[in-house]
Amino acid sequence: MKFHSTKNTSYQVSFEEAVFKSLPPDNGLFYPNALPKLESYWLENLKGMSKTEIGLKVASQFIEDEIPADSLERIVEETIDFDIPLKKVSNQIAALELFHGPTWAFKDVGARFLSRCMAYFIEQSNREITILVATSGDTGGAVAAGFFGIPGIQVKILYPKGKVSEIQRKQLTTWGDNITAYEVAGTFDDCQRLVKQSFLDDDLNKAMSLSSANSINIARLIPQSFYYFYAIQQSESAHNVISVPSGNYGNLTAGLWAWSMGLPIDRFIAASNENHVVPEYLRTGIYTPSASVQTYANAMDVGAPSNFVRMLELFGRDHVKMTQQISGFKLGDAEILKTMISCQEEHNYLLDPHGAIGYQALLNSLSDHEQGIFLETAHPVKFLDVVDKAFKSRQDFSEKINSFEGKKEAFQALPIDFESFKEALMA
Ligand SMILES: *Cc1c(COP(=O)(O)O)cnc(C)c1O
Repeated sequence: MKFHSTKNTSYQVSFEEAVFKSLPPDNGLFYPNALPKLESYWLENLKGMSKTEIGLKVASQFIEDEIPADSLERIVEETIDFDIPLKKVSNQIAALELFHGPTWAFKDVGARFLSRCMAYFIEQSNREITILVATSGDTGGAVAAGFFGIPGIQVKILYPKGKVSEIQRKQLTTWGDNITAYEVAGTFDDCQRLVKQSFLDDDLNKAMSLSSANSINIARLIPQSFYYFYAIQQSESAHNVISVPSGNYGNLTAGLWAWSMGLPIDRFIAASNENHVVPEYLRTGIYTPSASVQTYANAMDVGAPSNFVRMLELFGRDHVKMTQQISGFKLGDAEILKTMISCQEEHNYLLDPHGAIGYQALLNSLSDHEQGIFLETAHPVKFLDVVDKAFKSRQDFSEKINSFEGKKEAFQALPIDFESFKEALMA
């Protein structure tokens, strides 16, 4: 299958090119030329299939013979070699727990698939590449874990000093081998600027083959649609509503692709924090991106979500069609804490701040015949400061926290000027 730019349908590339380019030169996003349709007999037999079987079927619709079936099967198997259980929270609501991977958030799934697809392609052509990533928290750790030990790929991660949580920093700095962490004396925007400038620098581009692993890469999105199939596979209801805590809207887009392929999902909820431009669009038909505001669900603090153009493309830019399949919801910080408390008290289930928004959206909107599923996008241990705001005492996370014990942190401190970063890369 070919992929086109959302800004120019005649600009088309292969899966391999879409993976290594990440973005088309016109700054659109890559989009599949035709979303596949899965046969109904296959969909009806979902319950009997393994996670790998399902993932292979879905991925091969997009990738076709660019990666042979046996290699693709191994890539899928390695991508999802952890549990993705649907856990009952109440009679009508269940959590799809996406945090059982190495860095305890759903971003592991996309990062692991992307790294292995890249590894496959560079092995075919005997290349070596260097991946640059700027991170404000979750993405960098997932990318580091996903690419750790992969031959032929060096990974350079830039994070802002003092602006990531302690656990997040350890998930960036304790790898070694092909992973290098740079602690930049600036903000996330400074880190991102250094990365962007690197891609434009002649000396660097002569010295190494640079690539990116950012969240809009098509190879991160495709595997995220697998777990919607796992959710439906584990659900006992025929009328499922899926609530997706959203920031950049990659997760929701992947869910819409699964639905479009034929997976029976009645409707979706775009669950947001105070950064609610998409729920506003759903309500009014007017899209007004804005600067992001900081919230307790900080992985969703996005004011201009990149994947919104992919959602528009899926519905042919038809507002009414989109509202038939998706409704919007938003929750403020104080309510996030209240929801975490009430869910713990009533159902003995500890939500993270992002999952709390997804859960509350279902409470507010389910009708009697519907079953609600929300994506629990990260483990609460990643957001301990918020958990500690909600609860005077909480369960013991020492097992997770202590898992870094004995691991040495290593990073290179950098000022925010480009020349220093360039020197470090060339060294
Ligand atoms: C990245 C992230 C989100 C937002 O996902 P999008 O695909 O960007 O909408 C939600 N929750 C957590 C924990 C995340 O890390």
